[in-house]
Amino acid sequence: KELRKPLVAGNWKMNGNRSLVQDFCKSLAGSEQVDIVVCPPCGYLSYFDQASFALGAQDVSHLNNGAHTGDHSVEMIKELGCRYVIVGHSERREDHQESSELVAEKALAVLTGGLTPIVCVGEPLDIREDNKEQEFIGKQLTALFDKIPAELLSQCVIAYEPIWAIGTGKTASPEQAQEVHKFIRDELAKVGSSVAEKVRILYGGSVKPSNASELFNQPDVDGGLIGGASLTTEDFTAICQSA
Ligand code: PEP
Repeated sequence: KELRKPLVAGNWKMNGNRSLVQDFCKSLAGSEQVDIVVCPPCGYLSYFDQASFALGAQDVSHLNNGAHTGDHSVEMIKELGCRYVIVGHSERREDHQESSELVAEKALAVLTGGLTPIVCVGEPLDIREDNKEQEFIGKQLTALFDKIPAELLSQCVIAYEPIWAIGTGKTASPEQAQEVHKFIRDELAKVGSSVAEKVRILYGGSVKPSNASELFNQPDVDGGLIGGASLTTEDFTAICQSA
């Protein structure tokens, strides 16, 4: 774990406004100990002036350019100052029918463009109730591993986000999170032990200042992907300080 710098990323989803951007630029400080990333809606990215934290996009196209109305390419996201891109968030998988294969294409495009993908995986409630979460997540990971060469895979960040814990106020227990994170790391180890050592695995799903430390203290939890609690500088700063 010492080899991996903690990372906390805030996913604003379709929330926020220019005044919140100003708030964050003024009040959220970058850190030596933790990589801090804010992922606002794309249209706001260029308003982040002299931020001391990193920026990320919430999604990107796997294609370079062309007739794809509404999409952004990796190069465009890069020009807007992003170093990270979330791919495969469960809301995109559901709202836009994104398959694990498409998510892997997106991750590859992000890596090829020199940015870091935060690849989201995680099971819905019915799968968890059937105790099939490892099988479910295993398939999401296989699609990724099939497309990304090992030397690029080690630069990925993976976020485990149980869908039943996203925006529900229902957090996975630290033990439940650790169990899946360990499973993900073991799967990465099958690709290569150095890959498993390097890849940061974030937990996401109703992380708040009050539960962040016990989650982040787990041996295979390297930080968090934060939704609701990333919308105020107070909560988000407190969570970053827990990492
Ligand atoms: C998310 O959507 O990435 C997320 C973790 O949301 P929340 O923290 O609101 O559950």
